[in-house]
Amino acid sequence: MTKKLAVLGSTGSIGQQTLEVVRAFPHRFHIVGLAAGRNIDLLAKQISEFKPSFVCYQGGKAQTHLAGGKYEFLSLEDIARHPQVDTVVIATSGKSGLNPTLAAVKAGKNVALANKESLVTAGEIITNEANQNSAQILPIDSEHSAIWQCLNGESQDATRLILTASGGPFYRYSPAQLARVTVKQALKHPSWQMGRKVTIDSATLMNKGLEVIEAHWLFNMPYDNIKVLIHPQSIVHSMVEFADGSIKAQLSYPDMRLPIQYALSYPERLNNPQLPRLDWSHVNNLTFDQPDLDTFPCLRLAIEAGMKGGTYPAVLCAADEVAIELFLAQRIKFTDIAHLIQQALAQHQAIDSPALEEIMAADAWAREKVMQLAAGDSQCY
Ligand code: MG
Repeated sequence: MTKKLAVLGSTGSIGQQTLEVVRAFPHRFHIVGLAAGRNIDLLAKQISEFKPSFVCYQGGKAQTHLAGGKYEFLSLEDIARHPQVDTVVIATSGKSGLNPTLAAVKAGKNVALANKESLVTAGEIITNEANQNSAQILPIDSEHSAIWQCLNGESQDATRLILTASGGPFYRYSPAQLARVTVKQALKHPSWQMGRKVTIDSATLMNKGLEVIEAHWLFNMPYDNIKVLIHPQSIVHSMVEFADGSIKAQLSYPDMRLPIQYALSYPERLNNPQLPRLDWSHVNNLTFDQPDLDTFPCLRLAIEAGMKGGTYPAVLCAADEVAIELFLAQRIKFTDIAHLIQQALAQHQAIDSPALEEIMAADAWAREKVMQLAAGDSQCY
């Protein structure tokens, strides 16, 4: 049976790797929808290769450049809920993932989710809608895929989730060293090839904090029972502990095509010769270390925002997005990213169990607040 896929964010890192998996199994997967935000040339190539029925391009001037194809232009949401789509891959970055994710779960689709912000900011709304509409959320992030793979086949809930983190390029740096790191250094991740936003998030450990919040919603696990360990080899992608103390782990080389493929082929596992096999003669030690929450405060800020709930995670995400843009534009130091997020969270008047509009309002408030703080607050520098 051929599964019909829509890939939202098809020209990004996860989107391109999703299409590599589709290319490896042309009889299993068929692309019916493609959506991209900026890279029109790559989108045009993908359209001519995969011949989708529906296309969304958000960068303007699409109709002229992409004209002539046998496809219909639809919004992200309309592609996500289209009756012809079986599984929606949400590979857009930032808050643009939220509305299509909601549209897909409301339509009862399987949602292969790579976008972090949607679950982090609106986890309660999305998981409720998914339950009500029998939509399945299939995690693509390597850590959540690992946890999901460890849980599959078990009849009892896990007692603890252990998320691993590579530690990023600045593992074991001192606060003074961190204050001096450059954009170029921060964009060089030791184990994963990813987009710019998530690469910086990995360097600050914010990425792991967002993943803790996601794990809370995906696996219905209290925050106190989610642990983070630094594992620089990036071979163990996460672990699950059960009532008897037994721990299961999922291991592989760090290659996003594996968790993408598992989300698409679940419950089956497909033999993809392109995926590297672990060579044990090259694996001589796997180490695990406690994260340093004083030097990398973003992880602590994220866990605290998750525990407080309400609109705090929306503020966390939005403040982080703007602070990263300021850092990439070389307007603030690396360590200012955490300072700005911390100040935005401290000044936020939160709302409990927010509606979608209140989440959006908190998001907009945080973006403006961080710009104000960066422009005027001498404490940041
Ligand atoms: Mg991850």
